[in-house]
Amino acid sequence: MSVISTSLPLTQPTSHNQWVLASNNKGKLAEFTRLFAEANLDVTVIPQGQLDIEDAIEDGLSFVENALIKARHASRISGLPAIADDSGLCVPVLGNAPGIFSARYAGEHGNDAKNNAKLVTDLQPIRDEHPNEPIKGMFVCVLAMVRHADDPLPIIAQGLWQGEILTAAHGDGGFGYDPLFWLPELQATAASLSAAAKNRISHRGQAIQQLLAQLPS
Ligand code: IMP
Repeated sequence: MSVISTSLPLTQPTSHNQWVLASNNKGKLAEFTRLFAEANLDVTVIPQGQLDIEDAIEDGLSFVENALIKARHASRISGLPAIADDSGLCVPVLGNAPGIFSARYAGEHGNDAKNNAKLVTDLQPIRDEHPNEPIKGMFVCVLAMVRHADDPLPIIAQGLWQGEILTAAHGDGGFGYDPLFWLPELQATAASLSAAAKNRISHRGQAIQQLLAQLPS
């Protein structure tokens, strides 16, 4: 009887174990590098800017589609395995908006103050109708890893972080929607947590752990 191994070679024999990160975000690079080292994964992560790779056009309809578009794009241009993440905030009573448009919800890419103000405004009519009900929201992070640009079996990991959306900002840390994201069990917003505490429980922390669990040891 022949035995077919389902464990695919991931960290070898490709290109000295270099993976491209389809992002130039220094925080993400540091986080992947730290967690890969902790997991004894012999991989060097190179941000795509270092290889002159421009951002992909993210025209997918979902986090997973956009993460895959970014990973395939970086892998196609570099010829290396690539990893990408796509993340955002989903509010079910808004049909999961801002969703994949989280970074530019109010129109201008990365304007956190305007994005937060629009979210508070958009939720007000719902609060007026149901004054005593908290409004639930969740941060989402999807990671996609491809061994080559046309990899038919990408590794996909998804983290969800549940919370409630406040009417006003609290806390000085974090970024994006963190000051509006209330964690009832901690009696704190995501912006009040230390970076280490946030990484342990956040959507991104969960997704990275899930990705690591899918890699062959
Ligand atoms: P990106 O995928 O890191 O570019 O994130 C997309 C957008 O989602 C950000 O610009 C933020 O508005 C929002 N977002 C993603 N992750 C977080 C988070 O951990 N805290 C707050 N906002 C986030």
